[in-house]
Amino acid sequence: MIRLIAFDGDNTLWDFDAAMRTALQRTLEELWTVRPGPSTGALSVERMIEIRDRVAKELQGRVTDLAVVRHAAFERTLEEIGIDDPGLAARLNAMFFAVKERHSAPFQDAVPVLESLSGRYRTALLTNGNTDPARYGLDRYLDPIVHASDEGAAKPDPRLFRILLERSEALAAEAVYVGDSLSDDIAGAQATGIRGIWLNRSGRPNDTDIVPDAEVMSLTEVPEVADGWA
Ligand SMILES: [Mg+2]
Repeated sequence: MIRLIAFDGDNTLWDFDAAMRTALQRTLEELWTVRPGPSTGALSVERMIEIRDRVAKELQGRVTDLAVVRHAAFERTLEEIGIDDPGLAARLNAMFFAVKERHSAPFQDAVPVLESLSGRYRTALLTNGNTDPARYGLDRYLDPIVHASDEGAAKPDPRLFRILLERSEALAAEAVYVGDSLSDDIAGAQATGIRGIWLNRSGRPNDTDIVPDAEVMSLTEVPEVADGWA
């Protein structure tokens, strides 16, 4: 019997990518204002994303707070274009988070689906990110809310999924986890014995050997899938 449906946050309940790209674009414009020149000109949002992903990989297992990763990525970005200015990295980082907060929004299907699940299932959040769901009024649907940065472990680490189960007072067999990342969300959930629903909004191919228990293109399909297992 399914009792718990837990969700990933970034790119599952809210559109992180759009807000992240807007915020990086703004920091790039700011950098151009204070440090114009060919090396700044050679930077792009894509390259900043690539640098951030590289830094995240290097810090994997040591740093679970993605805000720390983001700051380190700005330091690395400046380093790679030959600017040694820790104060500037800190300022760009603060600007990034301010702009990201202003531009981030939940997906259209998030509230209706949480609304339709509530009362029938316990619904929860387990996120590696740093967005506060209260910002969108989603916190009233989500209990528990588990942030990786508070726990010293990040998805796909099964420890984090076990914390989720403990706080939800649910067994793995009673739980479903919904997320957009095959490697972090689906593999992590399944390693803990939790069913994983892969949210694949863009219909991209699965180029991994991870087999989700179900695949959906919208959150609106989640209640029917869970009801089928209930
Ligand atoms: Mg995600």
